[in-house]
Amino acid sequence: MFKIILFALIGWVIYKLIKRIAAPKIKPPNTQAVEDIVQCVYCGVYSPKRGSFLINHQYYCCEDHSKQASE
Ligand SMILES: [Zn+2]
Repeated sequence: MFKIILFALIGWVIYKLIKRIAAPKIKPPNTQAVEDIVQCVYCGVYSPKRGSFLINHQYYCCEDHSKQASE
């Protein structure tokens, strides 16, 4: 009887370990970590505000698009 409980316990621990490895913890929403997403005026691609180009109050996903739009 004891062996059955022991095996069940080991199985449960292994199951928990596999689950932890397979599915990494989903971070709770953190307002500081969430980046603002802006849409490129030229191609419509959404990109983080930090990595986008702001020209004439409009956001662009890359330098090329900001140049092409201003031409
Ligand atoms: Zn773009």
